Amino acid sequence: MSNKAPRGTRDILPQEASRWHFLEERFKKLCYIYDFAEIRTPLFEETELFVRSVGEESDVVKKEMYTFKDRGGRELALRPEGTAGVARAYLEHGMHNIPQPVKLFYYGPMFRYDRPQAGRQRQFYQMGIEVFGTKEPSADVEVIKFTAEFFLSIGFKNLKLHLNSVGCLQCRPFYQDDLKKFARGKLSLLCPDCQKRALLNPLRLLDCKAESCRELMKDSPQIEDYLCKSCHGHFNEVLDLLKALNVPYYVDSRLVRGLDYYTNTAFEFISEDIGAQGSLGGGGRYDNLVESCGGPAVPGVGMAVGVERIVLAMEKEKLWPEKNEPEGVFLAIDGPELREEGLVMLYSMREKGLRAETDYLNRSLKAQMKFAHRNRFRYVIIFGKEEKLKNEVKLRDMLKGEQLELSYEKALNFLI
Ligand SMILES: [Zn+2]
Ligand SMILES: [Zn+2]
Repeated sequence: MSNKAPRGTRDILPQEASRWHFLEERFKKLCYIYDFAEIRTPLFEETELFVRSVGEESDVVKKEMYTFKDRGGRELALRPEGTAGVARAYLEHGMHNIPQPVKLFYYGPMFRYDRPQAGRQRQFYQMGIEVFGTKEPSADVEVIKFTAEFFLSIGFKNLKLHLNSVGCLQCRPFYQDDLKKFARGKLSLLCPDCQKRALLNPLRLLDCKAESCRELMKDSPQIEDYLCKSCHGHFNEVLDLLKALNVPYYVDSRLVRGLDYYTNTAFEFISEDIGAQGSLGGGGRYDNLVESCGGPAVPGVGMAVGVERIVLAMEKEKLWPEKNEPEGVFLAIDGPELREEGLVMLYSMREKGLRAETDYLNRSLKAQMKFAHRNRFRYVIIFGKEEKLKNEVKLRDMLKGEQLELSYEKALNFLI
């Protein structure tokens, strides 16, 4: 045993956890304002759910999913993304029978067996929203606007919204065929992955990371020339609404997203400053997803953002609010015989909602003061023999370096 977290996983230590709290708070606050309600689905589902929704030929299903048989012989998979499980729950609980749209949000770990690198883990966290039950472009815009607001609220000012339409099941096959034909002429020059994509999943030829493939596909057919009338109209209406709401965007005809279930709108928010991990989140419309999970034809649109990547980008752009202000009170009990009385004080401070802490190792007063400073306590209450005799405590302001002598009750009132 190595005593290390498994490859592709990492511990979130307390200091970093406070940053995660910041993101979670912002996200949940926005969900409240936009009227999204939380749903929590299991971390694993039947493997078949992801095969049918994410797509049999997608990299996620073919190469990256953690699948296993449980002791009852069931084929299960750790969820590689959030939307399929939410769609399954939407169906299972008959949410398609209540007034639409149904607006849900989720937050939690996802799992993909991928090459770990900065900002990309095998257990990674996503926050996402979904709108089920409407095909209206205003729903697409709701999701995009939410995402834009979320990034603004945590301080990103230079993110670029890339936007595309990937068509529908009526028009996309024509495009895929032509893309296949185009790639066929260059097959031997493409990377091994793209050679397979050219046969099975030609759309993914457009977002290969290999520079040589990008160059080869530079002059490939463009999807906008293939969109049917309804897809075209839908996309234009999305663009018009975004304009009306002053959301800047960039139409990127190579944006296809990794999951097969997308139809029409696809979008990503990209940071130009952080290189290969530039996409901080994205989403799109998935009008066939619920149906492919075995339900009625219910349209939907959603997005997910990656927490690790956001944390990384915020570090690079130095967006963390400088929030290391000392807070709360440390009770320095000077002498073991005063412990009982000291603990009564400690818990009475906590009852009042104060961040309060004391020493558990019978350390010297000096060592306790050092500990209080190191752990960012604003105040220290010193309670020793001398104070006990005078029926007082010392209240020290660690920031100002000032010290008062007063009764414990007065000190408590002051702190509250
Ligand atoms: Zn279409
Ligand atoms: Zn390639």
